[in-house]
Amino acid sequence: MNNIGVYIHVPFCLRKCPYCDFYSVGSTDMMDDYIKSLCRDIREKKDILSSRCADTVYFGGGTPSLMSERHLDDILTALGKTVSLSADAEITLEVNPATASLEKLQGYHSAGVDRLSIGMQSGDDEELSLLGRLHKHSDTVQTVSNAFKSGIDNISLDLMYALPNQREETWLSSVGKAVKLGAKHISLYALTLSEECPMSKMKYTFPEDEVQLKMYTDALAYLSSEGYNQYEISNCALPGSHSRHNMKYWRLDDYIGFGPSAHSMIDGRRYYVSGSVRDHISGKSMETVDEVLTDEETVREKIMLSLRLSEGLRFDSLKELCRDADEYNTLKSSLISRGRKYTEGGYVSVSETGISLTQLGFFVSNTIISDLMDA
Ligand code: SF4
Repeated sequence: MNNIGVYIHVPFCLRKCPYCDFYSVGSTDMMDDYIKSLCRDIREKKDILSSRCADTVYFGGGTPSLMSERHLDDILTALGKTVSLSADAEITLEVNPATASLEKLQGYHSAGVDRLSIGMQSGDDEELSLLGRLHKHSDTVQTVSNAFKSGIDNISLDLMYALPNQREETWLSSVGKAVKLGAKHISLYALTLSEECPMSKMKYTFPEDEVQLKMYTDALAYLSSEGYNQYEISNCALPGSHSRHNMKYWRLDDYIGFGPSAHSMIDGRRYYVSGSVRDHISGKSMETVDEVLTDEETVREKIMLSLRLSEGLRFDSLKELCRDADEYNTLKSSLISRGRKYTEGGYVSVSETGISLTQLGFFVSNTIISDLMDA
């Protein structure tokens, strides 16, 4: 039986954060009906799922922790009747601090959740307020404590750096707080603002590039000294605690997404279903948008995603994507010669078997990866 990852999109938030441009609805009024439509959708995918084994399930959003225990149980029950759920499936739920009581987390755990990804963002209340977050650091501390009490000890914490006027001391203090809270997995994201989000209209001063680089590398050095391995540009984990679900995206493994705009990748076909929460609930036939990749695009995608990982790109993983040995050898040579341009500056490491970005390379990954994708 082939494995598959399942993504469940829960696009509801209590309030929109000013730096966020994800689609989400700022009220939970439609939650009950949405969960029913998700369950219907899952059952309708029996033809795809009945021959698969789901080894990861990920509830993302939005704010999935706005779901009740009953909502979550209904979805996992619908899944359990449609796909074989592996006995050791990783079942992750994204949580916003202050939206999940001990009782709720106990309910999630009883339903099967064994991993939480908590949006800590910062350990500093002034920074949290500037980000327009509804929680304070004490709420994160309480949520993590509740998680452990509920029996969920696989905790991931998200942190943000490069915030307006952020000092390196406050940033490193936040990273230290995340470690002390007992997180097995820590994600470090630089704040990036799209033109549409309200925060981009404010006249903020952001840390210079060199300061951002120092924030990134100093945090990684500290996390390494605490036993965390960086396995992806933005993600560090204690040994054995990487996100099994997210690895599927980076390795181009199969996954299926439920909910408006959730992406799926099944047997090389990638698609998403367009529409809103309201369309989803009404059962209105929503458009399935196929993103058909040519062979050349698949190779570029493989290069781009593999280079996000510390393990990098193994050249032999490109063999089956090339038409013949000549094409493969030409691609490999081109990657090696382009990669060597960056080795002197310490951005890239190249060998006969593969190519990977260093920490310095990760910081400027967009430029390097774009160049290598054109090999
Ligand atoms: S809670 Fe998360 S998804 Fe919702 S608006 Fe804030 S950042 Fe965006």
